[in-house]
Amino acid sequence: MTDRDNKIDTDGLSFATRAVREGQVRTNENEHSEPIFPTSSYVFASAAEAAARFSGEEPGNIYSRFTNPTVRTFEKRLASLEMAECCVATASGMSAITATILGLLKMGDHLVSSRSIFGTTTVLLTNIVAKLGITTTFVELSNLSAWEKAITPETKLLFLETPSNPLTELVDIAALAEIAHKHGCLLAVDNCLCTPALQQPITLGADIVIHSATKYIDGQGRCMGGAVCGTNDVVGDGVFGFLRSAGPTMSAFNAWVFLKGLETLKLRMQAHSAAAQELAEWLEQLPEVKRVYYPGLESHPQHALAKTQQSGFGGLLSFELNGGKEEGWRLIDATELLSITANLGDTKTTITHPATTTHGRLTPEQRTEAGISDGLIRVAVGLEDIEDIKADLLRGMR
Ligand SMILES: *Cc1c(COP(=O)(O)O)cnc(C)c1O
Repeated sequence: MTDRDNKIDTDGLSFATRAVREGQVRTNENEHSEPIFPTSSYVFASAAEAAARFSGEEPGNIYSRFTNPTVRTFEKRLASLEMAECCVATASGMSAITATILGLLKMGDHLVSSRSIFGTTTVLLTNIVAKLGITTTFVELSNLSAWEKAITPETKLLFLETPSNPLTELVDIAALAEIAHKHGCLLAVDNCLCTPALQQPITLGADIVIHSATKYIDGQGRCMGGAVCGTNDVVGDGVFGFLRSAGPTMSAFNAWVFLKGLETLKLRMQAHSAAAQELAEWLEQLPEVKRVYYPGLESHPQHALAKTQQSGFGGLLSFELNGGKEEGWRLIDATELLSITANLGDTKTTITHPATTTHGRLTPEQRTEAGISDGLIRVAVGLEDIEDIKADLLRGMR
């Protein structure tokens, strides 16, 4: 190690710089890029040191279910980008949500959640968390008074995603944080679609930020992972307490992929956003398209909120064809370049028919209520040339 190493004070440095530099601890090998530590356990200099580590008298690594240097670098870097005191990494986005709920709530507690959330999160809340005696009331994302009305003396947590997937609806995070705190509740935001490059919920008053790192943080569709960011009390104690005993921790290799992903996150999110904006504007003027859902469009009912709450509009958009399922499937099947998959946050553009995939388990009435029509198509815009994406979409439209 040289004198220069491990001395970078990242306080006051900008987002882009922290994304590249935060959290690295160089070893005696003087490596330039961050190393991977594929080890399950750590050795102690003596029996006394082992005892001191186990009792918590002395800080240090014991076992990778608790701490791992590569995972710690990822956690420090993401915490810094989310403007959080603390971050804990998890094995997947779903285990980040599970760790948040089971780490912070107990039997008899209640939570209020947006209805427009990731499908598996709905299943987790209604089928698994409910079995443990923690109940959920679902409300419409943008309706602030519905949130407040749903809060009971037992409510501990408000949970949401903004913008929503696939209809890109928003909620005013600052206004909802105020409601949450007035009633003594925590506000948790699943920031998967925007990432901290476009939206930092903690700076708007949210208490907890949750991620599926599988999506934009990886950015190339390789690894499963998740994270929870917040204060030392809530996340460092509550959520981490669940994690170290229940065990869904992030692997060192995946942490390394994600921490390298953070280095290019801002550039990628800007490119995804620019491409999605161009595609949304192009789709909006096609006669075959009835309506386009994208926060960057003037026609989006919450465009003004999106402009103040987010620094970019993201890579996900949806559009409704002047037809139903038949036209939707024909368009999807005619594509040659786009990937027919429900994943998002990849360099490769993906195309989905929500009514028969992500929202296929809902009844037709529930789908109508959620605004998911049979002619709705979702596109998560990747980093291919935008003209090639347009040409591929046109194949099945005319
Ligand atoms: C994918 C996703 C999740 C779940 O993440 P996994 O890494 O697949 O477990 C949670 N929330 C949102 C918004 C997602 O898109």
